[in-house]
Amino acid sequence: MEKIQSIRGMRSVLPEETPVWQWLENRIRNITSRYGYQEVRLPILEPVALFERAVGESTDIVSKEMYNFLDKSGEHITLRPEGTSGCVRTVIENNMCYNTTQRLWYQGPMFRYERPQKGRLRQFTQFGVETFGMPGADVDAELIFMVKDIFKALGVDKHVRLEINSLGTPEERSEHRQQLVNYFMQHKALLDEDSLRRLETNPLRILDSKNPDMQEMIEAAPRLLDFLGEESQQHFDDLRRLLDSENIAYVVNPRLVRGLDYYTRTVFEWITEELGSQGTVCGGGRYDGLVELFSGKQLPASGFAIGIERLLLLIQTLGLDKDIVNQPDIVVTYEDPAQNVEALLLANTLRHQLPQYKILNDFTSAKLKRQHSNALKSGCRYIVTLNRDGQVGLWDLAANTNETLTADTLANAFLNKTITAMA
Ligand code: ATP
Ligand code: MG
Repeated sequence: MEKIQSIRGMRSVLPEETPVWQWLENRIRNITSRYGYQEVRLPILEPVALFERAVGESTDIVSKEMYNFLDKSGEHITLRPEGTSGCVRTVIENNMCYNTTQRLWYQGPMFRYERPQKGRLRQFTQFGVETFGMPGADVDAELIFMVKDIFKALGVDKHVRLEINSLGTPEERSEHRQQLVNYFMQHKALLDEDSLRRLETNPLRILDSKNPDMQEMIEAAPRLLDFLGEESQQHFDDLRRLLDSENIAYVVNPRLVRGLDYYTRTVFEWITEELGSQGTVCGGGRYDGLVELFSGKQLPASGFAIGIERLLLLIQTLGLDKDIVNQPDIVVTYEDPAQNVEALLLANTLRHQLPQYKILNDFTSAKLKRQHSNALKSGCRYIVTLNRDGQVGLWDLAANTNETLTADTLANAFLNKTITAMA
C-alpha cells in the first residue's frame, strides 16, 4: 500500500511537545491581556485579492509563496500567508474603529510555499498583535515593551537582540528609491539575479540581501534614514527615547526593511544568533498606509508577529523546555482486573473531590507490578492502588511513604499534600 505522509513543511505537534506550546501560549496571552489587548479570531481562508493588495504583488509572499486555489464557485481563494491583512479586513468590514481605537491579538497557522528547513516551514504559527487608530511613537514603544516582557517571561530575553529602523513615509521613500536605483545601476555588475529582479519591482528589498558578495556594496548604499522628513525624524527620535527610558537595548539597522510593502516609519525585528540564518523570531512595525488602501480612509496602525516555531526552537536550544511536562498527579491502579469499574469510579470521585489534581486511570488490566511501572514512567507524584480487600494504598513517590486507607478517607489524605508532580 502506498504510504500516506504529511505534506512537506507541515507537521503535527506531538503530545510530548504540546506542554511547552501551551506553557508558551499561556504566558504570551497573559502578557498581552495585561496590556489591554483583545483576541480576534480570523479565518484561515481569504480572497487572493486581499494579499495582492495589502502585501503587494512584488513581494515574495504574493509572487511565489501563496497556496492559491479556485473554490467550487470559481472564487480565487488562498490559505492566509500572514495575519495582518485579514485583521485589517476585519477592522474595516466591522467598522471597528469608528471613533475608537483597537488593540488586537490573534494566533494561528499561516501558509507559505517556501523551501522547508530548520525554522522555516510551509505551515507555521504566528502570534500577531495589531493596533489601530494610534499614530504615535508611544504605541510603537508599547508594542516593543510587550515583546520584551514576553521574551522575559519565557526566559529568552538575553538571547535576542532588537533592531529598529524607520522607513519614513511613502514620499520620503520614493525620493530615496530614486537615489537607490541610481546607485544600484552604477553597481549593476555586482547585483545577483534576485537583486536585478528587485531593482525593477522592489529595490528597497535589495538592502536585506544576504548575498556575501554584495555586502560591501550594499553597506555604502544611500540610507533611507538620511531622507526622513521632520515628522518622521521626530517619530523615530521619540521611539528611541522611549526605549532608552525603559532601558531596552537596540541597534539601529539602516538596512532593516521588512518584506512587506505596507510599512511606514517604525520597523523592528528581534533576532537570535542561536538558530542560524532563520534567526528572526519577531518582526513588526507601523503600517499607516494599509487601511487607506482598502477603505479610502486614513487610519494609523502598527503591529508585530512572533514566529512561534522559531521561538520554541530557541527555547529548546537553550534547554528551557526540560521541566515543562504535563504528567498526571495521581495514577489509579488496581490489584484485581475485576476491580476496573471500581477503580474508574474511585478516580472520578477523587476528581470531583480534588479539583486541582490531574488523575489518570490505568485500564490495562496488567499485573499490578506492570501498572506501577507504567505509573512511574508517567512521572506522576502519587500512585493509588485499589487492593483486593477493598482497602486503598496511597504511595507518595516523592516522600517515599505508603499508607493504607479506606476509599472514603482517601481524598482527605491529600488535603495536606503538595500537588507538584515529579519532574
Ligand atoms: P524571514 O525573513 O525569516 O523569511 P519574514 O520577513 O518573511 O521572515 P514575516 O512575514 O514578518 O517574516 O513573519 C513574522 C515572523 O514569522 C518571522 O519573523 C518568523 O519568525 C516567522 N516566519 C515567517 N515565515 C516563516 C516560515 N516559513 N516558517 C516559520 N516561521 C516563519
Ligand atoms: Mg520570508
